[in-house]
Amino acid sequence: MSWSQTLQTGNLHDQMTILTGSAIRLLLGEAGVFVVSNEAFDPQSSPEYILYRLSPSLLPVLLESIQHNGRQPNSSCILVRKVLSPMLVDDLSDNEEVRLQDAERCSLLVHDNAGVLGVLHFLRPLGVRSCFEQEVGSDGTLRLFVAQLAAGLRSALKSQSLVNEQRRLAAIFQHSMEGILTVDSALRIIDFNPAMERLTGWHESEVLGRFYHDVLRPKDRQGNELGLQGSPILQAFAGQNVVNREMVISARDGQRFDVSVTASCIRLDKGEPMNGILNVRDITREREQEEERSTFISVISHELQTPIAIIKGYASTLARTDTLLDADALRSRLVAIEEEADRLNKLVGNLLYASRIQAGGLQMDLVPLDISPLVQGVVRRLQAKSPDFSVMLDIPPNLPIVMADRDRIEEVLQNLLDNAIKYSPRQRNLTVACSATGDEVIVSVSDSGMGISLRDQEHIFNRFHRVGNSMAHSTPGAGLGLYICRAIVEAHGGQIWVESSLHQGSTFSFSLPRVEKAFLPMVVF
Ligand code: ADP
Repeated sequence: MSWSQTLQTGNLHDQMTILTGSAIRLLLGEAGVFVVSNEAFDPQSSPEYILYRLSPSLLPVLLESIQHNGRQPNSSCILVRKVLSPMLVDDLSDNEEVRLQDAERCSLLVHDNAGVLGVLHFLRPLGVRSCFEQEVGSDGTLRLFVAQLAAGLRSALKSQSLVNEQRRLAAIFQHSMEGILTVDSALRIIDFNPAMERLTGWHESEVLGRFYHDVLRPKDRQGNELGLQGSPILQAFAGQNVVNREMVISARDGQRFDVSVTASCIRLDKGEPMNGILNVRDITREREQEEERSTFISVISHELQTPIAIIKGYASTLARTDTLLDADALRSRLVAIEEEADRLNKLVGNLLYASRIQAGGLQMDLVPLDISPLVQGVVRRLQAKSPDFSVMLDIPPNLPIVMADRDRIEEVLQNLLDNAIKYSPRQRNLTVACSATGDEVIVSVSDSGMGISLRDQEHIFNRFHRVGNSMAHSTPGAGLGLYICRAIVEAHGGQIWVESSLHQGSTFSFSLPRVEKAFLPMVVF
């Protein structure tokens, strides 16, 4: 019988039980234990003992007798026999399965060239000999038997470690946050992990067997198609190092995104490429952050430099001894200095606000609030400040009470009104309207100004985003106001949005939960 043929199925423990159990039977043993060597088997994952028809309660008795009562087998004497003491035989006779009266314990060293695999201890009737031990004065047949058993056990170990390795690789492949795809030598996809599915929108079953270039449609950062010569996997096949190369790939819906790819190649023994592996990391967010950083620096430096230049210009004029100004001229310069100082102050305040939002430290003091007088108050103040704008108020009576932080909501409204004025250079009519739904109260600010394109509407609530036309850039602002408004409104459990058409005007609205909705009683079912 070939031991290694026994090992096609089952886990390591099962396979070892089959092997050592068969060995005990072949050696005419009735029961036994295989004491595993820690050198050969990982003690963490492998059982220390493989029991064959031996009750676990007998195991300590047998081990005790082995340790204190007899020689151990070694490489020159691989089988040691010992007649059992009556006590152990008595114990054995309690075991339902094994009833031995005159028994001997045999200990067989199982080893091969690579080392010791363990010792097989088994019990059998006194005087019985298996066919492997019949040659007097020679243990050659027994050694062959042990060699077969060791080969079987080694093969079980190997197959188990392959299975474990396969499991580990499968877990890495499945749970990796990076997209991983593998291709055959003809660049056809053979694996496509879940991260790759999330990234591209393709399901693995749809892409298996397809040419990977057709699926990813890679382009360089300028948007030029990467021909086959630019294929990262082909380059890896050709022995080139492809590590963290940035490119653009397309998702199933055509949307493009920035990725960083690393390609590697698995070769056959002769060196020919067998498989290619592509690791794909989405770097869109990193790109956005880079852009955000550079926008931040350009916006902030512009926003700081302008008022500082104005303040410095006026201040140095006023400081000159030869400057002769009448009272009005003097006042207008001082007012300008004050306004620019306010602008600087507001910018610094907004920056601090934005960094608090980012750190998650925005605290709200929510109380039941009647929004009508608040809106009226803000509008009144605005009209006093900008008398050439007319604001129409559309507030229905008995507007429901909302849960809100008065100061913060005033800031939101103030910001929206400031923007409506800033971005309406010619049309001077604004409307502030309030309405109620079953769950919330909605406040809207409408202007007939420059409007915002659909594309920009998606981004204007992001930090530092300013619409890229000349009007926006000649208008002071750091692109923080709407970001702050959104953070405040969302901290109330509300939403903020814009409806706008280019050159027609914009309506910014935000919602706040009605007081009874904000404090829903807990329902226990
Ligand atoms: P800021 O006004 O300081 O630049 P905001 O965050 O308040 O920053 O606004 C972001 C951008 O949204 C502005 O730069 C502007 O381009 C656009 N925007 C905001 N409100 C309006 C509006 N009422 N009409 C047209 N564009 C607007």
